[in-house]
Amino acid sequence: WCQGFSEPNAGSDLASLQTRAVRDGDDYVINGQKIWTSGAHLADWCILLARTDPEAPKHKGISYFLLEMKTPGITVQPIVNLADVHSFNQVFFEDVRVPRSSLLGEENQGWYIGAMTLDYERSSLVASAASMAARGLDDLVGYCKETPLNGKSLMDNALVRHKLADMAIEIEVGKYMVYRVVSQQARKEPGSIEAAVCKLYNTEIGVRVTNTGIHILGLYGQLQRDSKWVRLMGRFQKAYLYAIAMVVGGGTSEIQRNIIAMRGLGLPRG
Ligand SMILES: Cc1cc2nc3c(=O)[nH]c(=O)nc-3n(C[C@H](O)[C@H](O)[C@H](O)COP(=O)(O)OP(=O)(O)OC[C@H]3O[C@@H](n4cnc5c(N)ncnc54)[C@H](O)[C@@H]3O)c2cc1C
Repeated sequence: WCQGFSEPNAGSDLASLQTRAVRDGDDYVINGQKIWTSGAHLADWCILLARTDPEAPKHKGISYFLLEMKTPGITVQPIVNLADVHSFNQVFFEDVRVPRSSLLGEENQGWYIGAMTLDYERSSLVASAASMAARGLDDLVGYCKETPLNGKSLMDNALVRHKLADMAIEIEVGKYMVYRVVSQQARKEPGSIEAAVCKLYNTEIGVRVTNTGIHILGLYGQLQRDSKWVRLMGRFQKAYLYAIAMVVGGGTSEIQRNIIAMRGLGLPRG
């Protein structure tokens, strides 16, 4: 599956999406463009948000479709990311005809299903962010124990030890946040605020841990895997770029803060 939500002019403000689905007999005909669609080049199916009522207020005119990626009229173009990896794409829809049965839920109710999808996406993203951070810490502890510095090991440096200890605390807190969201989902409780807290916290830890790793490795930290001087297989510079992307994917940290402030604390939209 891939997720066809974001568009060139609708990312954080997803409800502004312009891809249109127009009823034609028993079918819908879809035209528009999606962007940053992870795995669209590999997926068999797409979950798609498209506008079915352009006259309605923007959140209320959107429908949720499930469609096969091999449907005629869909073109997938690769986008290579900062880390030189092809993971997301642009997807173009040109007169893509899908049966009415492709609609999930009711017409024009797609926004609410999409919001729930994003809650689940956020909580699944954080599981990988949290495990990436934990693995990064293990790697760093091992590296610091083994690496000599002025006749001692890096681990003898109090600054390094305290940095690693701080990271261990943050990672542990993040892990329990993940457990909390998972147990809420297992009980089928709505957990959009908790998912936002968890996503924000764990993806930002991912950036801090990988950034700390790059600093501890010194100039070696910036080298790529194929350099003969590389340490820890160049994992930290790659992981740092990946960690930054995780802060954006599934909704940026600013958007998570907005969700927490509005839905969690009852503050105005601003
Ligand atoms: C690795 C990765 C994978 C992705 N995969 C997918 C995918 O599979 N499917 C999909 O549909 N999308 C995907 N996305 C897109 C992602 O959901 C969007 O990039 C994200 O929602 C931000 O939208 P944008 O890029 O348009 O940035 P914008 O919305 O233009 O935001 C630009 C900046 O403005 C800030 N900002 C915007 N609005 C506000 C506000 N109201 N308050 C405060 N700050 C604000 C943002 O935080 C950000 O810093 C992916 C993105 C990444 C990085």
